Amino acid sequence: MTSSVVSTICPFCGVGCGLDLKVQDNQVIAVEPIFHHPVSLGQLCVKGWNAAFGIDPGNRITTPLLRKIDTFHPISWDEALNHIANQFTDIISNDGPDALGVISCARATNEDNYAAQKFARCVLGTNNIDHCARICHSPTVAGLKQTLGSGAMTNSISDIDSADLLVVFGADPTENHTVLGGRIIKAKTNGAKLLVVDPRKTRLAELADVHLQLNAGTNIALINGLLNIIFSNNWEDTDFLASRCENQKEFVESLADYPATKVAEITGVAEELLDRAAYLYSHAQRAFLAYGMGITQFVSGTNNVIGISNLALSCGQIGRVGTGINPLRGQNNVQGACDMGCLPNVFPGYQPVSEPAVQEKFSSAWDCTVPTQPGLTSLGMAKTALGGKFKGLIVMGEDPVVTDPDQQLVQRAFRSLDLLVVCELTMTETAKMADIVLPVVSFAEKTGTFTNCERRVQLIQKAIPSFAESKSDWRILSELATRMGYKGMGWQGEEAIFDEMVRLTPLFSEMSYPKLIEYQGLQWPCDESHPDGTMLLHSTSFSTANGKGKLIPVRYVPPDEQPDDEYPLVLTTNRLHFHYGCGSMTRKSPLLERETPDGVLFINANDGESYNINNHEDVLVSSRRGEVSTRAVYSEQVPQGLVSMPYHFKEAPSNRLTNNAQDPVTKMPELKVCAVKIKPIKAGALPISEERL
Ligand code: SF4
Repeated sequence: MTSSVVSTICPFCGVGCGLDLKVQDNQVIAVEPIFHHPVSLGQLCVKGWNAAFGIDPGNRITTPLLRKIDTFHPISWDEALNHIANQFTDIISNDGPDALGVISCARATNEDNYAAQKFARCVLGTNNIDHCARICHSPTVAGLKQTLGSGAMTNSISDIDSADLLVVFGADPTENHTVLGGRIIKAKTNGAKLLVVDPRKTRLAELADVHLQLNAGTNIALINGLLNIIFSNNWEDTDFLASRCENQKEFVESLADYPATKVAEITGVAEELLDRAAYLYSHAQRAFLAYGMGITQFVSGTNNVIGISNLALSCGQIGRVGTGINPLRGQNNVQGACDMGCLPNVFPGYQPVSEPAVQEKFSSAWDCTVPTQPGLTSLGMAKTALGGKFKGLIVMGEDPVVTDPDQQLVQRAFRSLDLLVVCELTMTETAKMADIVLPVVSFAEKTGTFTNCERRVQLIQKAIPSFAESKSDWRILSELATRMGYKGMGWQGEEAIFDEMVRLTPLFSEMSYPKLIEYQGLQWPCDESHPDGTMLLHSTSFSTANGKGKLIPVRYVPPDEQPDDEYPLVLTTNRLHFHYGCGSMTRKSPLLERETPDGVLFINANDGESYNINNHEDVLVSSRRGEVSTRAVYSEQVPQGLVSMPYHFKEAPSNRLTNNAQDPVTKMPELKVCAVKIKPIKAGALPISEERL
């Protein structure tokens, strides 16, 4: 019997907790927290403790699979890769490179993601590369880039301990980023004030000094209302504005449209509470503001982020320890997938694809001619497929059929493709639609790096051998590239990929694997000026061209779909502590599955009674795009008129209902608000999930 302990990083959320995998005879038999880990300080949430179930061989895909009519047949790697390479080459010849694309994976490593965007650009010849940041924090990248010059968390998680005010805006961190949420509760217990802005009465809202329970989708009206109060009372930070910001005059003039009475009417928040919140934020010594998808997943997502930035800049709550604008990134490596350039408009390190000097640099380094026009987003690829101009797609470890808005549109789009390749651990709903499925290794079977929400690049280590015939995503792409005649992806291993990325990405120029081990992870920028990494961004100047923070007026725009007589309720989405993403990993844990086994609709008891739906009774939820049957659960977290569904459950997919109206800047769909109707359905009519059979 052989045993060992291998230190790595949790594969679930963007907090990036350290965990030890206990290995016996090439199997992970237990998970424990790393005691001195700089982020998690010896803690894990229940998902982290159950991380071993995500690698459970129980239902893993063992070999490449080829669809023949409606069934999958095992084939060899050679057959699978030759088939894909030949069909992709044909599509490029007949329809051009932009008929192809890649959806990379926010759960895969930086090395996998670097390989994915290089494959799209050098081998396929297209900038059609995207990933699930599109539907979580693409507005963060776009919005903060405009105002601060850099779209990432400005401070570090440890700054929570130094703040005297914690602002949680459109986020539910005790459910989703639990170790970070626990740190907020601890800071509150130690005397910090807590301000929560959320349409739902979340756990933190219950504990808050002030809870602004705004109507869903009214963020900009609320933020502009707070700013109007702040400037009217001269509570702004005049020194900070004068020395570090620009465009104040035009910006302040724009706030005149948001008097407190009007804002109270739009948002549903009483004027006294608006006053109190404005006072608290502008008078705090150090206000740490964290936000989530309650800011980004709207047609006004980018402007919502700009609004948050306006608030922090106006009050000088940025550039110091304990302050800042801190987007809570969802997936373990969604920050890294963005950093690696898995976006249609930027190369690694956010170097624009449209800049000639950048094009020249990458063409020369990669020995190819890189495409120069920004590519399609993931939803753009789906819509173009429906129009017949997009023919082939590789999806690496994401499950857009469950996680993207308007599920039926996504399914129709995938059905219309000539070739859908899915690289996966298990047969997800998207994998079930593929023409070819390729088995990939889990986080415990590979080496590489993940980047957490505070920009910390951390090494993960291979603990057990690859399961069955599975391979790393980067190795699959490398072998495909060779078959398609491109020789620039023949790396010997993950470290060689990382070193190539570092050479081409100024933000990472001083990073290396040995240094990541020595420092227990490094926060970017890590360059000549910051060889030890950077815990705090923007301490003396912003990353904009002139170093100034930009105040940008933003106008309130109501959500795309409002409740009406036919669809009288507002549906929002939420996440649950016990599950993660599409549930493909957490739902394999009996313990997590026991806690929350099925889909659910949270509904206020008064609405339940109005619609003749009892607590725990079956219910049919319909929107203009589809219908879902699930179970209603009475909850005081949702006010009357609002219902909420998690999206972890494929048997009750909330994204069959959600709206795909998009933010014009980033194409972020409006996942947080749509109009629905509900009615009771006969007991026992609900399907039983595969997990429970
Ligand atoms: Fe993993 Fe996030 Fe939980 Fe930490 S908080 S253990 S990173 S899921």
